[in-house]
Amino acid sequence: MKRRELLAAGAAAALAGCAGEQADCGPGAAGERFKWKLVTTWPPNFPGLGTGVNRLVEMIDRASGGRLKIKVYAAGELVPPFEVFDTVRGGTAEMGHGSAYYWKGKTEAAQFFTAIPFGMTAMELNGWFYNGGGLELYRELYEPFGLFPFPAGNTGVQMGGWFNREINSLDDLKGLKMRIPGLGGEVLRRAGGTPVNLPGAEIFTALQTGSIDATEWIGPYNDVAFGLNKAARYYYYPGWQEPGPALECIVNRQAYDSLPADLQAVVEIACSATNDQMTAEFVARNAQSLAQLREKGETEIRSFPPEVLDELRVLTDQVIDELAAGDPAVAKVYASFSDYRAMAEDWSNLSERAMLNTRG
Ligand code: CA
Repeated sequence: MKRRELLAAGAAAALAGCAGEQADCGPGAAGERFKWKLVTTWPPNFPGLGTGVNRLVEMIDRASGGRLKIKVYAAGELVPPFEVFDTVRGGTAEMGHGSAYYWKGKTEAAQFFTAIPFGMTAMELNGWFYNGGGLELYRELYEPFGLFPFPAGNTGVQMGGWFNREINSLDDLKGLKMRIPGLGGEVLRRAGGTPVNLPGAEIFTALQTGSIDATEWIGPYNDVAFGLNKAARYYYYPGWQEPGPALECIVNRQAYDSLPADLQAVVEIACSATNDQMTAEFVARNAQSLAQLREKGETEIRSFPPEVLDELRVLTDQVIDELAAGDPAVAKVYASFSDYRAMAEDWSNLSERAMLNTRG
């Protein structure tokens, strides 16, 4: 290339914000602009989850200088909530936000990347994702689907759910038709109940009309936003089924690869920031909403009896062992998950748990 041409190419690249070595300027670097769609499993502008996704795309817009514009479609606006995975896989939308355990019908091992009963807290799970090999396994699992996942939020420890009967023994779960997704649902089935999986928007009506007897959803912040406290009297804790469920942002791999390196970094950093911000928001808002619930005094807030939790834990181990025996991907992910959890537990006990105990 002649010197004049080189200079011209350099000037064009600089104008496009692609200064420096030409090698840094990947596909689309010449100021190319992208318009993407993002589909979510959440109701429109739903507190914490929907609003967190809105913040994510605003962040990407600002950080990319408007070069990557993403339009958010809430559940049902472009596709129904449980079609998010296939929609991003097929490329009709380039991004999606939801929970990995919704996709257990695609691959059972996905559930470990949201939460498993008696699994890990948000902090432990993030330790596994970013420093314990979890994210690599997550990406390996989604690769055959042409999807590239990022952790993008965590609700923290959830509540056990809303019931219209007291839960004093495992027998009280028998015959119970409860909205509870993921492996928690399988454990309930093992305990004699009937798990159903409903998207968020359908839960209140189902509980109020009696088409389900009980439900778990998230925690005080979101549960009260849905009015679940108006449809059930007992609010049980802790959320044994979801000790720190992660939310995910999935990106169509081909679309991600078509981005220049700087916009790929913007997506990655925005997801990582969302992972922190959403988690922080849940801590603050759950506490606030819990205080309001207590003030109203209409809800009986109770802990599950320890024997019930012990029995559910035994059933959980059975369910996961059986699943791992028949599914090599589950076996591989579970081995990594449980090794990490075992290691993290010692530290969690003498840091978080011990510290919380000092508060009396
Ligand atoms: Ca839940």
